[in-house]
Amino acid sequence: MGTGSVTTAGRAMAATFGLGLLGAGAAGLLFGLGETAWLRWGGFSLGLRDVGTILLAHTALGVVVGAPFGLGAALLRGLTWRRPDTRAWRFVRRLIAAGPALATLLVLGGLLVNIRWLPKRLDPMSLAVDGTLVAGALAIGLLWAARPWGRRGDRRLLVAAALGVVAVTAGLFVQRSADGGFGDEAPRASAPLGAPNLVIVLLDTLRADHLGAYGYARPTSPRIDELASRGHLFERAYSSSNWTRPALASLHTSTHPLRHQVVDLDRGVPRSLPLLAEHLQRHGYATGMVSVGANFEPADGYARGVDYFYITRPSAAVTRTTLFQNFVLRDFPATRPWLIDPAPTAEWTRPENITEQALTFVRSVKAEQPLFLFLHYMGPHDPYDPPPPYDGIFGDRGSDPGLTRPPDDLWAGPDWLSPADRQQMIDQYDEEIVWHDEYVGKLLDSLRGLGRLDDAVVVITSDHGEGFGEHGMWAHNVALFEEVVHIPLILWTTQATASPRRHPHPASLLDIAPTLVEMAGLPPVPSFDGQSLVPRLYGGGNGRERVVFQQNPLNGESGLRSPDWAYFQEERFGQRREWLYRAEDVRQEANLAREDGDVVASLDEQLRHQQAFDRERRHEAEHVTIDAAREEQLRALGYVE
Ligand SMILES: [Zn+2]
Repeated sequence: MGTGSVTTAGRAMAATFGLGLLGAGAAGLLFGLGETAWLRWGGFSLGLRDVGTILLAHTALGVVVGAPFGLGAALLRGLTWRRPDTRAWRFVRRLIAAGPALATLLVLGGLLVNIRWLPKRLDPMSLAVDGTLVAGALAIGLLWAARPWGRRGDRRLLVAAALGVVAVTAGLFVQRSADGGFGDEAPRASAPLGAPNLVIVLLDTLRADHLGAYGYARPTSPRIDELASRGHLFERAYSSSNWTRPALASLHTSTHPLRHQVVDLDRGVPRSLPLLAEHLQRHGYATGMVSVGANFEPADGYARGVDYFYITRPSAAVTRTTLFQNFVLRDFPATRPWLIDPAPTAEWTRPENITEQALTFVRSVKAEQPLFLFLHYMGPHDPYDPPPPYDGIFGDRGSDPGLTRPPDDLWAGPDWLSPADRQQMIDQYDEEIVWHDEYVGKLLDSLRGLGRLDDAVVVITSDHGEGFGEHGMWAHNVALFEEVVHIPLILWTTQATASPRRHPHPASLLDIAPTLVEMAGLPPVPSFDGQSLVPRLYGGGNGRERVVFQQNPLNGESGLRSPDWAYFQEERFGQRREWLYRAEDVRQEANLAREDGDVVASLDEQLRHQQAFDRERRHEAEHVTIDAAREEQLRALGYVE
């Protein structure tokens, strides 16, 4: 063997390696295209820069995965260097050359299926896109390798197959781009002169009667109470449901659950329903969402109209699903529409982290632009485990790890815990409120320091309350008793409003969006079913006739609150139960459903009328894929077993 022959063999090996990396990069790029199409399908608003980042990251991923295969191919090329130039050997050499690309396709495809398969709920769309890519590219690779046997027709077949793959992917991609295009699709007007900053602070699972401002004897909420004393407090504010997902959709679309249909974990907010943030962004607001995720994420349809979206993932879950969703998304700069933090600074639900992320958004907005911030604190949702120094503020047992969770059977009855243990559990819940109240205070102080409260509206509210066995039920997700649906609704504003500042009549979570739109001086949104509370703020109406509704279709539960009554029912497994209480019976001790037949009949008619209204105008919810990371999050919050 001469030196020349060795050099040529070396060159061929280097060429095979280079070609292998190129092919692997191309395979990665194909996956980038697939993921982009999938994200578009999922409702993410992608700018051209986002698309660029996704494609680049996936190409790099392909090269990294393909490199060892490239080395292997180069080695094989060297070993087969002296083989004769028969058809069979030509096929083998072509297969070797295509090997790194094909292997990369299979590895990435396998990882993808693994990621999407883990949740046990396959997303047909993402599999269709990526399956088409893998199958098409594999077919092309094999056809190419088999060309030594081929006739002329093969070349056309090859081109047709390639075009087919590109066309299918592009078609899927374009289909979802149709409703907006890329990036800042909606034309932005500049905000009205003097448009105030709008801030909604939602504390998950916070029942109204555990706040000082709502008459609680314990000092759980000094900062919120202080805000309430200088703002407006709605004494009888109610959620639209008894759990997070439908309630949040109601807040952001100002519609009832039967209308928005976000009634289960795999339902996302319908594209056909306008969102509060969308309306505000279109009228010149900078919009930011900060949430721990789980029930409020871009993939749930809330990306529309959002400039900055922050959610956290428990880091253990992230490591399992980093490749496609998090590998790419985590590297997004904060100025882009969404940011998934795989390594929250502390435990993922902590208010320290959420507050800091909200301020990051606020600092990123130009001083002259008004902003809308929606901040979703997870506390005092279970687990009720306040950290030091908050544990033991109200009891002398510290934080009891055995009493951080409600029972699996939410109807476990009033005697599920001994009175002492029940009180201990409530102590821990209350200590969580103290902890979060402190961070609400820090948030407000920082907003003031940044000049964002000079002209502002701040709303403090919750998505539902929490039961501690009062009526035999625990936690939330079931029943429409006062402890589960009575939420705080406090509105503080720099705008000059009228007294009195405590409003006794019913108000709904649905009212927040239309109220803020009106206070911003923007045109109303026709699909918003809530009522603006602005007349009440200015003394032009008191809500004396107002009736507000609650629905949880999953449990066949529906109810209402009128100025005089609380009425609700459950129709499940062919059984019907009813509850009727006077409004002043806030502990709901005397169920009058059997005695006051006339009242029941009249309220039942109102209830049915509202349900018919909502059903007739229902929108179809989007299907949402719950990936492994999200499933773990939901489990941590007790939403899945
Ligand atoms: Zn909740």
